[in-house]
Order: sequence, then C-alpha cells, then structure tokens
Amino acid sequence: MIKRLTIIGVGLIGGSLARALKVTGACEEIVGWGRSPESLQRALALGVIDRAESDIAAAVKGAEVVVIGVPVGIMETVLRELKPHLDPQTVITDVGSTKGSVVAAAHKVFGFLPPRFIPGHPIAGTEKSGVEASFAELYRDRRVILTPDEDSDPEAVALVRDMWRQAGAEVTEMSVMHHDEVLAATSHLPHMLAFTLVDTLARLEEHDDIFRFAAGGFRDFTRIASSNPQMWHDICLNNRDALLKMLHRFSDELNTLAGAIEAGDGEALLETFERAKAARDDYCEKSC
Ligand code: NAP
Repeated sequence: MIKRLTIIGVGLIGGSLARALKVTGACEEIVGWGRSPESLQRALALGVIDRAESDIAAAVKGAEVVVIGVPVGIMETVLRELKPHLDPQTVITDVGSTKGSVVAAAHKVFGFLPPRFIPGHPIAGTEKSGVEASFAELYRDRRVILTPDEDSDPEAVALVRDMWRQAGAEVTEMSVMHHDEVLAATSHLPHMLAFTLVDTLARLEEHDDIFRFAAGGFRDFTRIASSNPQMWHDICLNNRDALLKMLHRFSDELNTLAGAIEAGDGEALLETFERAKAARDDYCEKSC
C-alpha cells in the first residue's frame, strides 16, 4: 500500500490512475495539485482525489510517490518547481507520451536522472481530456512502459511497477530511444494522419457534403483527430526526430501508392492491400 500518492496534473491520465487505485484500495491518501482551482475542485468533488493542494510544496510533502500527469511540454517547468520540495526518499514517475524529452528535462533540472525518478508511459487513453473524462478501468489489461536506466533504484522501479499493476496494467521496460521510436510509429504517426486528413477535408470547398456523407469508416479512422491539440503540439515537438522519420517513410509509401494508381498497376495495389489486411488481421487476433 502507498501511504500518500501525489498527482501533479489531475486530468484524464492522472485522474484515471487515481480512480483505479481507489478501487483497489492501493493508496491511503491521494493528493492532487493542478494549475486551475476549478479542475482541482472538480477532481475533489468527483472523489478522484482526497485532498487538493494549489501549493506544490504542500502537495508533495510526505508523499511516498509523485506522479506527474501534465503535458510533456511543461515537464521541465514542473520538475523545476518540484525540485526544492522533494524528499530524497520520494519516488517520482510521469505519464508523458514522449520519454527522451522527459529524461532530457530531468537532466536539465537535476543534472542527471534521479535514481528514484522512473519515467513511465501508460499505453492507454482516449480522445477526451480533463478529470471528468477519467475512469477507473482505463488501464485494465493495457500496457505501461517504464524506461528506467542503469542507475535507477530497483526498489523505486518495483514500487512504480506495482502501482500500475494495481491499476490493472501489464508493465514492460524498454530503453528511452526504443520507446520513442515505437510510439512514433504506433501512436504519433496515426494521430498526424487523422489530424491532417480531417483538416484537409474540412478545408475543401465541398466540405459540407463530405462530412454529411461520411460513414462508419471515416468515423473510426478520425476518432483520434478529436484529441487535445495542445497535447499533440507538445508530443510532436518533443519526439521530433522519431516522428519525422516515420512521417517521411509514410509519405514515400503514399507516393508509391499514388504512382501505382496513376499507372493502373492493380497488382501493386492488391499486393499492398493484402499485406496490410494480413498484418491488421493478425494484430487483431492477438490484441483486439
Ligand atoms: P489532460 O486531461 O488535459 O490533463 C492534463 C493535466 O495537466 C490537467 O490537470 C491540466 O490542468 C494540467 N496542465 C495542463 N497544462 C498545464 C500547465 N501549463 N501547468 C500546469 N498544469 C497543466 O491530459 P492527459 O490526457 O491526462 O495527458 C496528461 C499526460 O499524459 C501528457 O503528458 C500526455 O502526453 C500523457 N498521455 C496522454 C494519453 C492520452 O491518450 N490522453 C495517453 C498516454 C499518456 P487543467 O485541469 O488546469 O487544464
């Protein structure tokens, strides 16, 4: 059991973790810190946190674990604010979608990645934001990736692992670079495609008809274009290299497809679609 858990930024991700840990009774007390008193009061009223603190020093005082649940673009600022108030025994983790940038922020603030700061990323979410959208089952049977380094304290890693397991997740470890490359491919690229597709169609002259006659496939494919623009702005700029590599690769493949259509090369089209269908069917059989 965690005696006191502090969540810095009680939104969808931090709020869902708090809810899940409340259901399993894994924490004695959950304290929330946030920038807007309104959001914090909502988190309190919804029973997501037990105590709301607007002062960061008071929020982390006596905390066994601090979970940072803010957008990746402000991790450095938040770490800087936290630094003078952290007890050396406190275990810190975060939920940011990019890990290289979070580790770089820790290096800037502390000069190194503190052994009891275990970077993390739950591979779960929705296109919604805010504590109102949080729910206890978000992490059930989903994966959480931790990216400790060789100096990380094994006891802190075990505690963070255990916390996520209590929330229902399966915990995996990988290197920071591998995390950022894998996520650029599986999450960041699809979000770029959804945002760009919807934006392109919305700016066509006949966009009213396009959206009126769009069916289930369009709805499925574009759900993630309703995600928080500020959060995705931060993710793009904080996983720049890996994302650019995937975007260039995808853009080459799209040009090849356009070339096949232009040339009437049905065989190339069928080959691509059959390969893609087999890969998607296999993925769904194993994970859907
Ligand atoms: P969210 O619902 O918008 O919550 C973000 C929280 O951070 C809110 O409490 C917000 O406070 C606070 N915050 C935002 N900007 C801030 C600032 N400038 N200063 C201080 N606090 C600030 O977002 P989320 O979806 O939970 O995402 C949180 C983190 O999880 C991000 O790092 C994201 O990359 C990561 N993540 C997201 C998903 C997903 O699908 N959404 C999945 C995995 C990981 P207010 O209430 O005042 O706005």
